[in-house]
Amino acid sequence: MSAKLIKGTEIREAILEEITKEVAEIKEKHGVVPGLVTILVGENPASISYVTLKIKTAHRVGFTEIQDSQPVDISEADLLALIDKYNNDDSINGILVQLPLPKHVNEKKVLNAINPDKDVDGFHPVNVGRLMIGGDEVRFPPCTPAGIQEMIVRAGVETSGAEVVVVGRSNIVGKPIANMMLQKGPGANSTVTVVHTRTKDLAAHCQRADILIVAAGVPGLVKPEWIKQGSCVIDVGVNRVGEKPSAKDPNKMVAILKGDVDFDAAKEIAGSITPVPGGVGPMTITMLMRNTLKSLKFKLGIA
Ligand code: NAD
Repeated sequence: MSAKLIKGTEIREAILEEITKEVAEIKEKHGVVPGLVTILVGENPASISYVTLKIKTAHRVGFTEIQDSQPVDISEADLLALIDKYNNDDSINGILVQLPLPKHVNEKKVLNAINPDKDVDGFHPVNVGRLMIGGDEVRFPPCTPAGIQEMIVRAGVETSGAEVVVVGRSNIVGKPIANMMLQKGPGANSTVTVVHTRTKDLAAHCQRADILIVAAGVPGLVKPEWIKQGSCVIDVGVNRVGEKPSAKDPNKMVAILKGDVDFDAAKEIAGSITPVPGGVGPMTITMLMRNTLKSLKFKLGIA
């Protein structure tokens, strides 16, 4: 039997519709819309394409959006001053610094200078701490883990009491999603195991998982025999394994993307599974929009 596909592209559309509606309601009632600033340093093509997509999505849901592009040789002091300016700008609810930053700039110092109440990426230590405490302390759950949890919930998968196994312990995916799934509350209440490169028997842990979340960055790491019959498999991995001519323009080459799970075999065993591409990928920017809206709602006292 083939697993139900959990499509990030479809869930994204539903959430963006919800956000657009709420933004219009807030505008009507309070006369304001969320404001997002994206700070881009230099001209890294991948960064430009991420920022372009963020701007397009922000416009779509009715936010005001500032794209602040800075030269690659901007000094650390000038970048910190820029962040200070947006920290004190009342029309801005979310500040996003596109990574990576050039080597002469201390990335940690820059990210930690963002006002935690405008840190819609959720990476500031204050927000990481709030996430760990859970409940109504949480302000901005980091976007990819928030997207993963949303997909599990919207797919109708029971999380309470479920065995969740997370492959990978990075600060942006593995650790926060593990923390979120063990919290008390809806979409969580799970029993969580985190496995990583030093784990002795990866297969045995994965085989117990009712919900298997894989964020390792190793194509095809999870074999079909590691998957429990009927389980929910969330494949976060995005791995470039080659190139192929673009469907739109055959003269242009585009990346061939594969996840961390052997999808074709896994879908015959799992109950539900995310594809790559089109699974977790589209959720990250969607949740960034939700966090930015949430930031305005906190400010208005309606969150
Ligand atoms: P990372 O490299 O920071 O962390 C990978 C983790 O996986 C590490 O903790 C490591 O211990 C573990 N790991 C690696 N190889 C392993 C192995 N053989 N066995 C067991 N554990 C292993 O990566 P990350 O930033 O967490 O990203 C992971 C993957 O998710 C990447 O493919 C990345 O591109 C993708 N990703 C996708 C999105 C998205 O779709 N929106 C967002 C973030 C990351």
